[in-house]
Amino acid sequence: MKTKELFRDDSYLKSCTATVTATGDNCVFVDQTVFYPLGGGQPGDTGTISWDGGKARIVDTRYVDGDIGHILEDGAECPAVTANVELALDWDRRYVHMRMHTAMHLLGSILQYGVTGGNISATKSRLDFDMTDTVDKEAVSRALAALVEEDHSVSCRWISEEELDENPELVRTMSVQPPRGRGSIRLLEIEGVDLQPCGGTHVHSTAEIGAVRIGKVEKKGRQNRRVNIHLDE
Ligand SMILES: [Zn+2]
Repeated sequence: MKTKELFRDDSYLKSCTATVTATGDNCVFVDQTVFYPLGGGQPGDTGTISWDGGKARIVDTRYVDGDIGHILEDGAECPAVTANVELALDWDRRYVHMRMHTAMHLLGSILQYGVTGGNISATKSRLDFDMTDTVDKEAVSRALAALVEEDHSVSCRWISEEELDENPELVRTMSVQPPRGRGSIRLLEIEGVDLQPCGGTHVHSTAEIGAVRIGKVEKKGRQNRRVNIHLDE
């Protein structure tokens, strides 16, 4: 049975109850979870899993054989299959990922070049752009601060491929083209700024990102600029 991904519909859930459906090597599978698995440049969540008589640290969350695996620290005791458990996120870390992730969308809307890579962490994040132009760090920093200040709302919605086919206008306005073949697509919209398919976790409004600045801009090859961003608190 596939894990129900509660974080897709509400990224602010900090904990949930669940039932263990399977266990593997230091790895627990449950019927539903608030833990985001590594993907799309966003790290897997960490936190704790507790059950009647036991508790263990979750040190990473990853897709394992197509389902969400909660990776326990080495040597941890594992709950039994069918046990009722409580899953609790390291919320501070996840919330920084949400702010960073949303800031990356803003950066992508300012620098309208193809994105060839990216990585998010709690201390710094980066996007790689397919570009040869010079990046004006000060101008990009100012534009980023303005989008945060303007407090645009951020929302997610699911759309079917049929609906997309009926709305070519919608597809044209997307900064990244949606993947096809899975039936439905999750769209992330930053009102008036960006619309694109994305499965990650985001904050509800750009003001929540807070103080953000552009760090180093690195030249990675003739046609690639790596832009680093930092949150200031
Ligand atoms: Zn996103």
